[in-house]
Amino acid sequence: MSKDWNTRTKLVHSGTRRSQYGEVSEAIYLTQGFVYDSAEQAAQRFEKLGEDEFIYARYGNPTVAMFEERIAALEGSEDAFATASGMAAVNGALTSMLKAGDHVVSARALFGSCLYILEDILTRYGVEVTFVDGTDLDAWRAAVRPDTKAVFLESMSNPTLEVIDLKSVAEIAHAQGALVVVDNVFSTPVFSRALSLGADVVVYSATKHIDGQGRVLGGVILGTKDFIRKTVEPYLKHTGGAMSPFTAWVLLKGMETLDLRVRAQADGALKVAQALSGDARLSRVIYPDLPDHPQHDIAKAQLERGGTVVAIEVKGGQAAAFKMLNALEIVTISNNLGDAKSIITHPATTTHQRLSEEQRLELGITPGLVRLSVGIEDADDLVADLRQALDAV
Ligand SMILES: *Cc1c(COP(=O)(O)O)cnc(C)c1O
Repeated sequence: MSKDWNTRTKLVHSGTRRSQYGEVSEAIYLTQGFVYDSAEQAAQRFEKLGEDEFIYARYGNPTVAMFEERIAALEGSEDAFATASGMAAVNGALTSMLKAGDHVVSARALFGSCLYILEDILTRYGVEVTFVDGTDLDAWRAAVRPDTKAVFLESMSNPTLEVIDLKSVAEIAHAQGALVVVDNVFSTPVFSRALSLGADVVVYSATKHIDGQGRVLGGVILGTKDFIRKTVEPYLKHTGGAMSPFTAWVLLKGMETLDLRVRAQADGALKVAQALSGDARLSRVIYPDLPDHPQHDIAKAQLERGGTVVAIEVKGGQAAAFKMLNALEIVTISNNLGDAKSIITHPATTTHQRLSEEQRLELGITPGLVRLSVGIEDADDLVADLRQALDAV
């Protein structure tokens, strides 16, 4: 039934399971376990679990199941597995499918913790990882081999908003039989249909737009029923990265307004990007929906909108960037993104501090670069705030 619904209807109703009390708002089943009518019933559930049956919250929980069904309906995937955080989702998706001797190709521009999983953890267990410039299709072609098990990429990179040609990368990967795993946070579940572009597995940090109000950590892995139930579930249920029922409930409430919030944020981001581009105090304004973005055409073809983040480079390096951040009155200094509140980050000294200066420069993370996650405030107020902060530089 929910297959025929449009996005906003799915976000409010998909996956709802009502108890005998007929509650309007989804119930929080804050329980780790479930009782059985008889010893026989317990034995039966351990043997084969039915649709609406649960054993233990590390394996599944009704509130978490509602979240999984709703996000799967939005993404158009057969199934989903919820996790304790975005990183539990990235780790679960990759580690559950890989073994020693496998080869992985990954885009180089990654969220710091994703890079750690690929560069430090997987390699420690005998997986070979080749890093490429994600925007260079020839580099993908040269790196993907017959023994490549998976390719990994962030469809839009953090913080410089490079947009990867997912459709072409998927063709290259599939030609060699490799699975395509996409971290889709920056593209957002509202604007990207990664599965229809060729992704096999999509992961989200639900901490970002899906909560969107700075409350909880969460994550989700989306894919075929076969992959989620036979590969991901055994790994996660035995290693313990389960989502809490309370978190699932917060995220269900977040999903009701997800489409409205993210569209309002993208409207604001575009206005801010347009208002700031050409400002003499800035050397770069990066936003995929601006015509001068290096992958503007790919963004237009593969994403409905350019997302909720704008990257800007302040002339005068770190000192100028810090002065600007400190002078802001509405925009807060923090490191989350996708929130209803506008948030600004200086990547070189925070999220990407762990990298060497050389690695940072290779990724375009210069000392003057700041990442602005645009919230749902009035865009004119945000532009005025950013301009007065630049005056202070
Ligand atoms: C935040 C983020 C993550 C990690 O998510 P958590 O919920 O913080 O664990 C992974 N990938 C990207 C692109 C992110 O922005």
